[in-house]
Amino acid sequence: MEPSVSVRDLRISYGALDVIDNLQLDITPGEFLVLLGPSGCGKSTLLNAIAGLIDISDGEVWISGKNVTWDEPKDRGIGMVFQSYALYPQMSVEKNLSFGLRVARHSKKDIAERVSRAAEILQIEPLLKRRPSNLSGGQRQRVAIGRALVRDADVFLFDEPLSNLDAKLRVDLRVEIKRLHQRLRSTMIYVTHDQIEALTLADRIAVMHGGEIQQLDEPLTIYNRPCNMFVAGFIGSPA
Ligand code: ADP
Ligand code: MG
Repeated sequence: MEPSVSVRDLRISYGALDVIDNLQLDITPGEFLVLLGPSGCGKSTLLNAIAGLIDISDGEVWISGKNVTWDEPKDRGIGMVFQSYALYPQMSVEKNLSFGLRVARHSKKDIAERVSRAAEILQIEPLLKRRPSNLSGGQRQRVAIGRALVRDADVFLFDEPLSNLDAKLRVDLRVEIKRLHQRLRSTMIYVTHDQIEALTLADRIAVMHGGEIQQLDEPLTIYNRPCNMFVAGFIGSPA
């Protein structure tokens, strides 16, 4: 089967520093892949390269069988959710959800349908007329996920979407995201430094360290058979 996302020979430098050097990654359609690793290991850099939000020094990114290396983010068929919610503060929740669709000149009817479907899936219908400033952190993050959802994304990218939430909400939304994946069956790439999140959400986990993927395997394999001392130490499994 053709990969949903394919990263080939990727190199990213900031000035003289190679943050990522010759990285390869193939993601299966419908897979929930978690990029797991400590702060500074290059998770966001890799995700942003897939999204087209940063310049790459070398290599290619393919999405759904198409070389998108030179395509703008909006043309890559992706939906992205960030750690900070990045909602438009002056717009209602409804306007936040529909903004991208209005820019892309979808019809009024189509916009209304997409917004109400996303609102239903994420259970934010009662919040549609409110401003982001009147929402809790968890509600804001639901809206941010909804905003990614209204587009026809083949691939969803999440960069530590739950890191700003308290422990209880983190668990609630984690279950929610898992359910969303089961319902949509889209490819999801999810960045976190939280081992529990990775182990509970992932079909496969890519453990990163120093800009390299140390091990790419199913959660149980990562946990039971870590390939090196770094992975064993980071995942907290018996080495
Ligand atoms: P993570 O998301 O895993 O915490 P990042 O991808 O944000 O890691 O960062 C990887 C490395 O690249 C770090 O050493 C970080 O300091 C460096 N880095 C990230 N963004 C920039 C930038 N805009 N300019 C220079 N260095 C950067
Ligand atoms: Mg990061």
